[in-house]
Amino acid sequence: MCIFCKIVAGEIPSNKVLENDEFIAFHDINPVAPVHILIIPKKHVENFQSVTPELMAKMTSFIQDVAKELCLDKNGYRLVTNNGKDGGQEVPHLHFHLLGGAKLKWTHLTENDTHKSL
Ligand code: 5GP
Ligand code: ZN
Repeated sequence: MCIFCKIVAGEIPSNKVLENDEFIAFHDINPVAPVHILIIPKKHVENFQSVTPELMAKMTSFIQDVAKELCLDKNGYRLVTNNGKDGGQEVPHLHFHLLGGAKLKWTHLTENDTHKSL
């Protein structure tokens, strides 16, 4: 069972923000922004590349609810999903990082720092 499936099953504790029948939002254990939430489907889906449009449609609505719950909808936020090896995905269970609570820098660098202008 993957680490996020263990969170869904309650085998690993998490600091939950919002939950419904199909999704959970909880605080990232290693935040990189003042607000850093992970949003996952309860069903194990490996990553964005393998999610169905039907599940993604429901997840979109849930993510919007999480942003509202945390009052991020007015000032804004960043939504990120790392997909696979080159995307830097470490946990192989679909998750979106919801980042906010401050004006965020745009720092999408490659590992060898050759695209600093991005
Ligand atoms: P990825 O690199 O796969 O996009 O992001 C995985 C994220 O999961 C990281 O930001 C990491 O801090 C977070 N994470 C890993 N293990 C745990 C855990 O057991 N609990 C929580 N709350 N976050 C975790
Ligand atoms: Zn899983």
